[in-house]
Amino acid sequence: MVTLIARRKIAALADGIRSQLELGVPVDVEAAVASLGGRITEEDGFAFAACVVKGPHADGSDFHIVVRPKAQHPQRFRFSVAHELGHLFLHMGYLIRPEAWARCGDYRDSVRFRSGYTAEELAANEFAGVFLMPETEFCAALDDAVTDEGLININKVAAVFDVSVSAAEYRGRRLGIF
Ligand SMILES: [Zn+2]
Repeated sequence: MVTLIARRKIAALADGIRSQLELGVPVDVEAAVASLGGRITEEDGFAFAACVVKGPHADGSDFHIVVRPKAQHPQRFRFSVAHELGHLFLHMGYLIRPEAWARCGDYRDSVRFRSGYTAEELAANEFAGVFLMPETEFCAALDDAVTDEGLININKVAAVFDVSVSAAEYRGRRLGIF
């Protein structure tokens, strides 16, 4: 369960980081990670869904986000990277809680992380949703996606943010629109 207060804090953090990095939509997650001092590593066949490997690394980066290859499922790749950024800030303290960052180890997501079984998984999904779909742009996209019949074409909304339809639907529900 992520409380309303926690959700607002997570949203403020995700909005703040996106603004700081001056990212438009669809959010360029690879540019975001590079700007934050990290690196994305695409790997297949590992036992967990994704992870954050704490640095410093030999390539000069402060963290690696390890995810399954982009080519397999580009939208999942984008959401996974954003989800791991959520763990990086919320649960490892990167840049915002230096003492926590100093103490923490790597963060490994289980293969079932999308189901959101734990508070940390829900929080990371919340972060990813806000990071990839800013509220103002989301509402504008909804306005643009109204059909002649007065319905919302959710596929069109999802395309604006380069996310899956289910991610766009979830964001709409979180904003209390659907
Ligand atoms: Zn996770």
